[in-house]
Amino acid sequence: MKKRLALFVLEVLAVMSLLGCGAQKYKVNADGGFELYRKSYAAGEEVKVYFKYIATDTDYTFYCENEDVKIKTDYDNAHGYVITFTMPDHDVTLGVKSRNTMTIDYDANPAPPASGPEPVPADNGSGIWKCPECGKMNAMLYCAECGRKKPGLD
Ligand SMILES: [Zn+2]
Repeated sequence: MKKRLALFVLEVLAVMSLLGCGAQKYKVNADGGFELYRKSYAAGEEVKVYFKYIATDTDYTFYCENEDVKIKTDYDNAHGYVITFTMPDHDVTLGVKSRNTMTIDYDANPAPPASGPEPVPADNGSGIWKCPECGKMNAMLYCAECGRKKPGLD
């Protein structure tokens, strides 16, 4: 079973200039699937961050690297995960951990007998072969019906 990995797009955080701002603002650093409507907030403001990269059978755990920040995680059908917290008087870094929840119980589903797909008739010398994909008889290297390559050429 291949673990399904969500491909996260790293968001380049814009460099915020504090020049011209009335109040001191702090940045929210959140890469990899988070969606920020604003990148900087004043202390005490409520911050809402969405997380949209949701793969099936995956549990997401959101965390804040700043121990003094308590984040709250909700789920909203329109946005996906919604993480809210109150902005402290310093920058905040959010992160996410994902875990595949699809477990495999090998004992519950023993492997089927090794019959495999229907055996393909060997080339009898005439060059005519039966396509294992669609059943058409072919003389060329590729099936005229579905385009599959003649077996044994791989
Ligand atoms: Zn075919």
